[in-house]
Amino acid sequence: MYGLSEADLELQARARAFADELIPHELYAEEHAGELPPGVAEEHRTRALGLGLFATNLPKDIGGQECTTLQQVLVQEQGGRVTNALGWVLATPPGWWPSVATPMQRERWLAPSARGELAECYAITEEHAGSDVSALATTVRRDGDDYVVNGTKWHVTSYNEAEYVFVQGVLTNGPNAGEHVLLVVDRPTPGMEVVHTPTYTHTFAHQHPIVSFTDVRVPASHLVGDEGQGMTFAHEWFRFERLMVAARCLGAAERLIEETTAFAAQRIVGGEPLAERQLVQAMLADSVTELFAARSMVYAVARSIDEGADRKVLHARCSMIKLYASEMAGRVADRAVQVFGGRGYMRENVAERFYRELRVERIWEGASELQRVIVAEQLVKRGLSALV
Ligand SMILES: Cc1cc2nc3c(=O)[nH]c(=O)nc-3n(C[C@H](O)[C@H](O)[C@H](O)COP(=O)(O)OP(=O)(O)OC[C@H]3O[C@@H](n4cnc5c(N)ncnc54)[C@H](O)[C@@H]3O)c2cc1C
Repeated sequence: MYGLSEADLELQARARAFADELIPHELYAEEHAGELPPGVAEEHRTRALGLGLFATNLPKDIGGQECTTLQQVLVQEQGGRVTNALGWVLATPPGWWPSVATPMQRERWLAPSARGELAECYAITEEHAGSDVSALATTVRRDGDDYVVNGTKWHVTSYNEAEYVFVQGVLTNGPNAGEHVLLVVDRPTPGMEVVHTPTYTHTFAHQHPIVSFTDVRVPASHLVGDEGQGMTFAHEWFRFERLMVAARCLGAAERLIEETTAFAAQRIVGGEPLAERQLVQAMLADSVTELFAARSMVYAVARSIDEGADRKVLHARCSMIKLYASEMAGRVADRAVQVFGGRGYMRENVAERFYRELRVERIWEGASELQRVIVAEQLVKRGLSALV
């Protein structure tokens, strides 16, 4: 099925077995603000590294696994089977960076990230700039050998777990004034401060605080690529992350369908297993059909990336799969809660956790509406046959 090679199937099985090791820790995490007992998260990271499931997207010369895009999808899909972001231990450090990283940046941040010694986070979104990244108000001023950053970033995922932050802002002086730049800022650097750490719908150890930057001085050597390339990297990152969101949604849907089917087969209501009630069967059938459709799409797009398809076309295809897989997983989770009945509303139930956790997949990395806009624009520009 899906034309996977022997190597693909072996990697998939390895990732699946590891995800199965993580699943028993979900409830503890749910009951402890997403945290695991001391040392357990580190054990998981060591296991992921040892199993070759870490940094699957980075080249071997930096210490990554240099997997194909399809293989990266297969690994992330298994991570998606686990709630409470425990699957995020299958980390994919910034894969767009190696081609533009300076030797210093490779040595200082990238290689240690591939080894699991450092982790990054992204500070792009602001109070008045979310879907529209071009509206960023964070300023970056060149001052001698430094840049000086001022602004406030929202929803900075994993800030509490990260050693360095990619900050995007708008240049205010020099020949490229008005352009976007991306800087690497170490944590801590004087002038960076957590303003507020909101709680969110899901229960993750990774927080998403609001972080202010007040006259934060960053050496010019921390510039990623060239001045003016900030948006280029954001687009690269969006494309990759949209694919990976889609992959994790496949895993979530698979787990939900497995759990729901097993429950429906043994739960007796009115003398019959739920699985024999046609209205319940309809829910199971719709879910598995949609998973099949989504998986076929996601694998096909991953293959087209491996085959070197046109970037603009890939941009639209990554939007299509992010849109479809995230909405599919949301529907699957909703049906799963319904089939579990009252149990499906309990936090100790996997369907309840996914029902909450999957909601954000339709918002971050570009809301569903944005994905539709991208797809429609590319359809009009390039024609139907270019996209599908
Ligand atoms: C848990 C979480 C973690 C996040 N992590 C990060 C992170 O690590 N780094 C980071 O930089 N950001 C992060 N984000 C921010 C995320 O990317 C934004 O929330 C998202 O891009 C939407 O922006 P917004 O919230 O400002 O919504 P807005 O831009 O205000 O949009 C609100 C809604 O309006 C609609 N809408 C917007 N634009 C259009 C349009 N053109 N056409 C039609 N409808 C439209 C959509 O329905 C959208 O959901 C995170 C967000 C969350 C919730």
